[in-house]
Amino acid sequence: MQEQHVFIGDLTRREFREALAGGKFQTAIIPTGSIEQHLEHLAMEHDIRMATHVAEQVARQLYPQVIVTLPIRAGISEHHMMHQGTVSAKPGPWLSVIFDAVESLVRHGINNVLVLNGHGGNEAPVNGIIGQWHLYFRAQAPQANVQFHSYWDLSRPEAEKLCKTGVPGHAQEYETAMALAVCPHNVRLDAMQDQEDRSPLGASAEQGQKLVDAAVNATRRYVEEMIAGQHRPF
Ligand SMILES: [Zn+2]
Repeated sequence: MQEQHVFIGDLTRREFREALAGGKFQTAIIPTGSIEQHLEHLAMEHDIRMATHVAEQVARQLYPQVIVTLPIRAGISEHHMMHQGTVSAKPGPWLSVIFDAVESLVRHGINNVLVLNGHGGNEAPVNGIIGQWHLYFRAQAPQANVQFHSYWDLSRPEAEKLCKTGVPGHAQEYETAMALAVCPHNVRLDAMQDQEDRSPLGASAEQGQKLVDAAVNATRRYVEEMIAGQHRPF
């Protein structure tokens, strides 16, 4: 069987052109996250790693309806810049890159675009401006439906049942559990023991897999509803 390419950058232009012409990849997910401190024990890529993982699983489950763009790795993280290693983008330029990525996809005939976010600091800037994006697309490409959600918001009721502490928190129980399930090499168990914040100690890989499944299932449902014509801004 032919390999299922679900990232746009893995396809050639012919493969993508022919797929679009054949009615495939009519919906795109753009994962957004951050490279920023995640306490002493969790790798700094966590947010983008997890948003990309959820997006990829959804695209595989709905193949060949959904394509994932390359992840936008840096996020808006000024509030974490006191920790060395954080790479932060300014809100204006960052929003421009996201908007341009969305518009590029729409210009190529992809009408449903979900920006799937994994970093809390990106939420307020996008939520502040997405109404303007909707108005722009209503005028320029009325068939387009562009939405923005953090994966934990789509799966919140389920996630809150599975966690003893707040969802999503920051590098705490929720994020640590998901990392233990998806990328355990990103969790330094020894560092978890000797830091002040004890909440990550409540996390387990088994719990993390349930949280990942909840995020993937909820996001897949949302994307299916977008494909069915729901969640339109107008
Ligand atoms: Zn995080």
